[in-house]
Amino acid sequence: MSEDGIEASHASDTQAHPADSLGLGIKEMRLLAHWAVDRVLDHFEHGARGPAIRESSSAELLAALGGPAPEEPGDPLQAMETLVDVALANMQHGDHPRYFARIPGPSSFAGVLGDWLGTGFNAIAASWPGGSGPATAELVVLDWLRCLFGMPDGTEGVLASGGSLANITGLIVARKMAGAGVAYLSEQTHTSITRGLVAVGFPPEHIRVLASDAQFRLDVDCVRAAIDEDRAAGRRPGFVIATAGTTNCGAVDPLGALADLCAAEDLWLHVDGAYGAPAVLCDAGRAALDGIERADSLVVDPHKWLFQPYDIGCLLVRRAGALADTFHMSPEYLTGASTGQGEVDFRDRSLELSRRARALKLWLSFRIYGLGRMRAAIARGIELAEYAESVVQADARWELVTPAQLGIVTFARPGATAADHAARADALARDGYAAVTSTALRGRPVLRLCTINPRTTEDDIASTLERLAAWPGS
Ligand code: PLP
Repeated sequence: MSEDGIEASHASDTQAHPADSLGLGIKEMRLLAHWAVDRVLDHFEHGARGPAIRESSSAELLAALGGPAPEEPGDPLQAMETLVDVALANMQHGDHPRYFARIPGPSSFAGVLGDWLGTGFNAIAASWPGGSGPATAELVVLDWLRCLFGMPDGTEGVLASGGSLANITGLIVARKMAGAGVAYLSEQTHTSITRGLVAVGFPPEHIRVLASDAQFRLDVDCVRAAIDEDRAAGRRPGFVIATAGTTNCGAVDPLGALADLCAAEDLWLHVDGAYGAPAVLCDAGRAALDGIERADSLVVDPHKWLFQPYDIGCLLVRRAGALADTFHMSPEYLTGASTGQGEVDFRDRSLELSRRARALKLWLSFRIYGLGRMRAAIARGIELAEYAESVVQADARWELVTPAQLGIVTFARPGATAADHAARADALARDGYAAVTSTALRGRPVLRLCTINPRTTEDDIASTLERLAAWPGS
């Protein structure tokens, strides 16, 4: 694409147009960019020596970051240093090898590079004419994910900011396709789903939160009984919402049996695999997730166990055309080149119009690392949880509550209260050594490790458990 005319006009453009829309010069931009790259590399190289989490008071943070919006330009390096040393220093470092709380974010460098490039080029993935390259990258990664999960050809998808939005987007599609009806879920279902159902107008009688079984899984018999009860009461059953890897303890609902039930009852099966679905890549996870390929809609969060920086969630929908049937729009001010076969306007697949090209980072990560490395990294997370389980089992100060499941293990101090567990977790977080979650399983206070960072060592786990057990340090 180097016609002389175009090159000549580009050359004069370079003189006519400053590099930065708000006036930084190119030399200064390079200097600042290299500084930023070095800080990020320092983070990757040395971040593990720093805290896993750090929090400061609002007053301290506002003293450094607040004040009136500056009228005059400031010193860029000074501002960037403040950003790194204050804003970026005070947060959970989900990529730290001893960040075991919530769902860690063990972001990989290739993911960062992909995000940087997309942001640097201000990539947009809203319409085909406006971003055919980014849209193709999105179609490609969606199809890679579809294949990994074993969903059939024709399955379509869309990337969203994360699991909450991907889940609710899927449930909006489900309701559009299947009509209004009752949704069945368990008390272990991620709360963003219940919140989302309410927000999109499911009435309370259409949200059936059922008690999970002894292993914290959605109980098929319980769902069947609730369906019968609803039909008898004149309500229309509509959707089963299964979880493939619960946030609390990594439990996987009985996906195959739920898929059978949905087939028999003509219900839509939505599977929330935001956390656990990537485990299909390795042998141990694949067995646990058997049946995931039968979902009508499936969510996975690459910013969790596919090693991507925030934000990227993914929704896959089995029925071709369902996304566009739900979200298509074509106002006169958006008309452009018409889309042909294989050309997708992603604005038609969710509630977003202007949208970041989230696929770029995942595309680059697959290309740079290959599936093999991702597989090994996921398998390592599962092994680390099994190691944590063995340490807990060998220590009389702990009681195992749920075994290692998809990278999560829960345990308790015999007889301990929630306050005792929370104090132990807080003490670890306060000195920044590690971050763990204090939660409850059906009312029982537990501590919880999520070990999906492949950079974590066995020592990291053993020392974290030791400090937790030894608190307040005798
Ligand atoms: N679903 C599950 C199972 C999760 O674990 C989470 C978050 O941890 C979500 C949904 C929500 O994902 P996000 O935080 O990306 O919105």
